[in-house]
Amino acid sequence: MLKKNLKNNLKIVSFDVDGTLVDLEYNDLIWFKEIPELVAQEKGISFIESLELVKEEYNKLGEHNLNWYDIKYWITYFDLPVSHTQILEKYEPQVKIFPEVIPVLKDLQRDFTLIIITAMPREFLIPKMKKLREYFKFAFSAISDFKNLKNSEIYSKVSKILKVHPEEILHIGDHWEFDYLAARQAGFYSLYLDRSNTKKGENIINSLEEARGIIEEID
Ligand SMILES: [Mg+2]
Repeated sequence: MLKKNLKNNLKIVSFDVDGTLVDLEYNDLIWFKEIPELVAQEKGISFIESLELVKEEYNKLGEHNLNWYDIKYWITYFDLPVSHTQILEKYEPQVKIFPEVIPVLKDLQRDFTLIIITAMPREFLIPKMKKLREYFKFAFSAISDFKNLKNSEIYSKVSKILKVHPEEILHIGDHWEFDYLAARQAGFYSLYLDRSNTKKGENIINSLEEARGIIEEID
């Protein structure tokens, strides 16, 4: 039934970015190498001590707080003598796109409008999307555009902005709550991407190749 609906209605395929299109190394280098290095220099402590301290501060705030995602917030919080653009540009060569991404996007682009829905602030999208931008018609940042987490409200707003019914959009992402459940709650069709290959089941995929398969199967 679901598949039949998808066949008749699907217009847009939406993607999360981190962990879905690009690997987490870029983020990790910024949050767990660059920031603690700078904090260590500022406070005159070792990298190990600094890393512990920084992790503790990240965890205290937690991913349900918008500031958690905001590099500018952390630069101010730790009183670091750098700009966010310096940091983001420094690691740009480290942005890695998962190998199946571009072929899958090229395929899907022929039949669907492709969009991005990310939690991260827009400045993080710039280095990551350099090689991917051409495939996407729209990119939404929950934090920059809606001052919110990637919850069901955001997905509803995106479908309204695009003037497309929620059931005409398929969202794919690697976060169970912020991608899979939140999109589904808003009436989107959604797939949970588990690149660790540990979860199996309906609506769970282990690579984007499988998403292409699910869509093509019904086309
Ligand atoms: Mg993600």
